[in-house]
Amino acid sequence: MRTLFVYPEFPKTFWSYEKILELVNRKVLLPPLGLATVAALLPQDWEMKLVDRNVREVSEAEWDWAELVVISGMIVQKDDMEKQISIAKSRGLLVAVGGPYASSTPDAPEIAKADFKVLDEGEITLPLFIEAIQRGDTSGRFSAEGDKPDVTGTPIPRFDLLQLDAYDSMSVQFSRGCPFNCEFCDIIVLYGRKPRTKTPEQLVAELQSLYDLGWRRSIFLVDDNFIGNKRNAKLLLPQIKAWQEERGYPFSFATEASVDLADDDEMMRMMHEARFESVFLGIETPDEASLETARKVQNTRNPLDAAVDRITANGIRVMAGFIIGFDGEKEGAGRRIVDFVTRTGIPAAMMGMLQALPNTALWHRLEKEGRLIQDKDAAKGVNQTNLLNFEPTRPIRDIANEYVEAFCALYEPNAYMDRVYSYYLKMGAPRWKGSTKLPTLTDLRALAIVIWRQGLKRNTRSRFWRYMIGMARSNPAMLEQFLVVLAHNEHFLEYRSIVQQEIRDQLESLPPEEPKSTRELQPV
Ligand code: SF4
Repeated sequence: MRTLFVYPEFPKTFWSYEKILELVNRKVLLPPLGLATVAALLPQDWEMKLVDRNVREVSEAEWDWAELVVISGMIVQKDDMEKQISIAKSRGLLVAVGGPYASSTPDAPEIAKADFKVLDEGEITLPLFIEAIQRGDTSGRFSAEGDKPDVTGTPIPRFDLLQLDAYDSMSVQFSRGCPFNCEFCDIIVLYGRKPRTKTPEQLVAELQSLYDLGWRRSIFLVDDNFIGNKRNAKLLLPQIKAWQEERGYPFSFATEASVDLADDDEMMRMMHEARFESVFLGIETPDEASLETARKVQNTRNPLDAAVDRITANGIRVMAGFIIGFDGEKEGAGRRIVDFVTRTGIPAAMMGMLQALPNTALWHRLEKEGRLIQDKDAAKGVNQTNLLNFEPTRPIRDIANEYVEAFCALYEPNAYMDRVYSYYLKMGAPRWKGSTKLPTLTDLRALAIVIWRQGLKRNTRSRFWRYMIGMARSNPAMLEQFLVVLAHNEHFLEYRSIVQQEIRDQLESLPPEEPKSTRELQPV
């Protein structure tokens, strides 16, 4: 079976980092790991090609060659998903869809034309799909009916199908699921609350496969909570460390984890020694009442500032997500987020307005309360420029304006530079010893551009040089990372104007808001 995998295009988001990617001559941040895994689960005698539409278009020759088109994507990719399904159908090809969007909304109009819906986790549903294809079926819908597969038998993803030089980072996955119960989270809906992990040997074999293909840069562990199963994460980390040591630490790692990482010194040490350089934390808000409303109680147990400081002191850079628009939220939530980020120094702070994703506990509650603005099929998903998709407990304009102000304040060039500098002064120096690598021409070109823009052209110039000298004196081992993180603001700066414009346009199209006193909504 000649199978063409098509990964739909993403809209521009905070995390798409276009301007950084331009600097380092890459097209996309991360590869479509899900499709590469699906390819490994299908019969290996099928011929396969993979096109990531974020890298390039599907060629005429590829459409002509294909017999079966497999498309997978997330909610933010749904528009292009629909377009690619239509193109494939207009050519008379069989189309199968799967992945998070299809699994959470199998009846969504964007995927209605697909012949096969292969829902949930592929380890369970792909064998049913393969049987159907081998029987000659031309349509079908396969669901895991609530079952969650053991992932210890999942094969190494077909990394060889990817155009490796287009990506800034590669991805691997160790675990699925998270033990927590945040009200807005769709991960626990899709993957459950009992984290399932691969074996250390499996994960190390994936690293080896990437290494054998020539990969030598960063790797993102896409786990939604890498420490969801702490015992298994601690069995894995020494094996990664040993593998890295033998090869001179060729990979740096990033992942996502819950804030309780800061309570586990052993885990932080092990992560650092395996060369985990950064971790994304869902901090959401410094407002304790909002965290309780969102059932994110794990973030209320210990002071969040101290948690960020502890992780940083262990040599792991914190990235964090923040949300505005929780029920019962008090005026000034945006400002409180800016103050928290400034105090802790977190360089990359992602902000968004709360979105109710289909089938989450938040979605069901708001549906019951009659507060959803869009129906399930129209849900837009997490994007930093979407207004809330439900009626909040305070005026939507106030939330949106606070959000825009906070976003702009966070990425004001001088404020950003101050924050990154204060952060890197606190950062622990690396304890792992990698082999020395000479900078490439691309690295040197990127460095020259950052120096030109931030150190000469903009009004950040005096700070830039002062901070460079300060870093060289007080934490020289972190100078390179410091410069890389300064370069990130090339993207955030541009993204500030996108956020401002898109939110303004959406606010203008809203109907006039009722006076607060006539509204019946009460905080929960
Ligand atoms: S900690 Fe993160 S992954 Fe886990 S339930 Fe909460 S939001 Fe979801």
